[in-house]
Amino acid sequence: MLKSLHVSGPETSCKICDGPASLYGVVDFNKNCLERENVFPVLSGVPVYYYRCENCGLIFSRAFDEWTHADFQEHIYNADYARVDPEYAEIRPQLLADMVFNFIKQAGPLKVLDYGGGAGRTAELLRGKGVAAASWDPMTSAALPQGALFDVVTCFEVFEHTPTPLATAEDALRLLDSKGVLIFSTLTADELPPRAIHAWYIAPRNGHITIYTKAALKVMFEKFGCTVHHFSGNVHMAYRQLPAWLAPQRA
Ligand SMILES: [Zn+2]
Repeated sequence: MLKSLHVSGPETSCKICDGPASLYGVVDFNKNCLERENVFPVLSGVPVYYYRCENCGLIFSRAFDEWTHADFQEHIYNADYARVDPEYAEIRPQLLADMVFNFIKQAGPLKVLDYGGGAGRTAELLRGKGVAAASWDPMTSAALPQGALFDVVTCFEVFEHTPTPLATAEDALRLLDSKGVLIFSTLTADELPPRAIHAWYIAPRNGHITIYTKAALKVMFEKFGCTVHHFSGNVHMAYRQLPAWLAPQRA
């Protein structure tokens, strides 16, 4: 039985910029990313509402605001999760490890943390390539790693999953050296029209509960003194100060 979701009114404030947000649409809890491939789930009968911020365009739900990590584990990141995200366990970690390795291989030895790395497969693959990589996941680990800061923090498929985007960004950045870079993925939604709740990426069963625009990412990371660079609509980088190994390429 799905735990009752938080119900809120037609208006709320944006989780990033605090601007006014009204309801954007409603989908069934079981809506998931496989619908892009014409695989449609049995519906649950549980509605999940999303808002959109009038200022920064953030699309977000408040339905999960009172869920604990245990609730997420029970209802979303459970044994059936692999069915709605079949690439999660192996295919994506391989692609991500290759991407990170290619990005940093000219830099010399760097310390890498994969934040939100699940079972730690991406970091394991990076270690196999000789990179000093560790993994940490807020869903399964209690306290943040203490002490050492990292040259690169990766944050793949994390930000769309958090009900608290500012707290997640702050956590990830806390682990970053002042001249480190945060490399993250999340598919931006700048081009979505006013009624696009059926877009494939808006998918509560996959845990996609906070969808960003480039403007929303800019506002979010500026709060922490960071600049955002977009490699694509899906892969981005945030930094306070570009490290020497990146600066010459970008001068
Ligand atoms: Zn906003």
